[in-house]
Amino acid sequence: MLMQPQSETSRPADPVARRRTFAIISHPDAGKTTLTEKLLLFGGAIQLAGEVKAKRNRVSTRSDWMGIEKERGISVVTSVMTFEYGDCVFNLLDTPGHEDFSEDTYRTLTAVDSAVMVIDAAKGIEARTRKLFEVCRLRDIPIVTFVNKLDRESRDPFELLDEIEKTLALDVAPVTWPIGRGRSFAGTYELGSNRVRRLDAADDAGTVSVSGLDDPLFDALLTEDGEAANWREEAELAEGGLKAFDLAAFREGHLTPVFFGSALRNFGVRDLIDGLARFAPPPRGQDADKRLVEPTEPRMTGFVFKIQANMDPNHRDRIAFMRVCSGRLNRGMKARLVRTGKPISLSSPQFFFAQDRAIADEAFAGDVVGIPNHGTLRIGDTLTEGEDILFRGVPSFAPEILRRIKLTDAMKAKKLREALQQMGEEGVVQLFLPQDGSGAIVGVVGALQLDVLKERLLAEYGLPIDYDTTRFSVCRWIASDSEVELDKFIGSHGSSMASDLDGAPVFMATTAFSLRYEEERYPEIRFTDVKDYQ
Ligand code: GDP
Repeated sequence: MLMQPQSETSRPADPVARRRTFAIISHPDAGKTTLTEKLLLFGGAIQLAGEVKAKRNRVSTRSDWMGIEKERGISVVTSVMTFEYGDCVFNLLDTPGHEDFSEDTYRTLTAVDSAVMVIDAAKGIEARTRKLFEVCRLRDIPIVTFVNKLDRESRDPFELLDEIEKTLALDVAPVTWPIGRGRSFAGTYELGSNRVRRLDAADDAGTVSVSGLDDPLFDALLTEDGEAANWREEAELAEGGLKAFDLAAFREGHLTPVFFGSALRNFGVRDLIDGLARFAPPPRGQDADKRLVEPTEPRMTGFVFKIQANMDPNHRDRIAFMRVCSGRLNRGMKARLVRTGKPISLSSPQFFFAQDRAIADEAFAGDVVGIPNHGTLRIGDTLTEGEDILFRGVPSFAPEILRRIKLTDAMKAKKLREALQQMGEEGVVQLFLPQDGSGAIVGVVGALQLDVLKERLLAEYGLPIDYDTTRFSVCRWIASDSEVELDKFIGSHGSSMASDLDGAPVFMATTAFSLRYEEERYPEIRFTDVKDYQ
């Protein structure tokens, strides 16, 4: 199993260089779940990839723990899956498909070094793909593209590549080229290498070599009138006319290698995973407040980007997912939680596989470990071996919906406060405590987060709640270089001020118009809609 000592000769010595930590970004229905299953299958992490026929009933390849998710057939929570393939250790970070949980997705993308963009060959670039791509671009995350569902009626590959290039302003370099599409899809041709992967070969097995584009194999595969001739023209154009793959441009986020395939037919997935092993970057340096932390540094550092409760319904546990940024994490080591300055013992860090977890005896930069805890760790926390640094960049977004919590049983107010604090720390919702002492306000980016909060408060704390609208519709964190100005603003806006979990001041406005009005009146105040956790 993973991480067990192996014969040293069979693998490269450097554990960091072997790591590939990535996420899959896509629009719902493009095939992310199916592709995830097939990738895990290649990695030997699961025995048999269950087909995603009915999401409601499928064996969980990812996080299906919550009732609400089962009910609606959507994935609410993020999880991590670790698998080994060839010489590499892959950490695949799953992201929720539904856009109401986009905050969770953005945080997860802070913990990856590359991403696979899955595109439905019939639909091309869709809204959510574009949005997630923009997040990756902000962080210079290199993207590998997988054009999926070639076994269905698809758009012309040139048209698809053109769309990627134009809508995302990203150069494309196809690595493979589809042989036929839809019903006549027969495989892929590896551009410039005279190798063909046939759809009818079992389990995405090896490639066969051809003499060139005029090889009779193409006539045998594309049997309709004129089909082979058309395809030859197309492939020649692709070979000659399109950009060649350029590793530096890819690593800088300017170019994407493109693979064609069908996740459902388990086709093209091996090329993709080989591509990730060959091209995708190993763990990169991470920005902390005082310096850049290199993955090869000897001392352990890491940051928490995700907290997940109730992964196992039989144990009320809470897992903090930490990306290791440098050094070696050893089971049993004592780390320093920089936010509080207190030590924390890593007695049972865990790796997650498709359906299993296992104690991690050691982990390296790029790995994601789950740390069980009872509320000590928060999103954005930094752990080190003593150094006083904080990783930046796990963001919090100004919520788009604000609601006041209505508790039906007033006796439980104290319990509610504790529960909300927990939920806030887990990132389920954002919590704002109004300065005038009125009831807590929760803020969310997507409305489904409110349903999750309600369900969890009832299931885990026995707290039945409802929501009331508030007069506020937008909020912003405020800061200023002038403390006098800041105090003045806070003093004169008492009934519109709140503090977040960290005690940072938040201004709540009734309308976007009144927010703009205040921004103009107080030019020395910075109103921000994104806040880094610290
Ligand atoms: P997700 O929402 O992105 O996770 O998409 P899923 O993996 O759940 O796939 C959505 C639907 O497309 C499911 O019905 C899949 O069986 C189907 N699907 C996924 N990949 C392929 C493919 O390569 N070919 C075909 N024909 N269907 C596919």
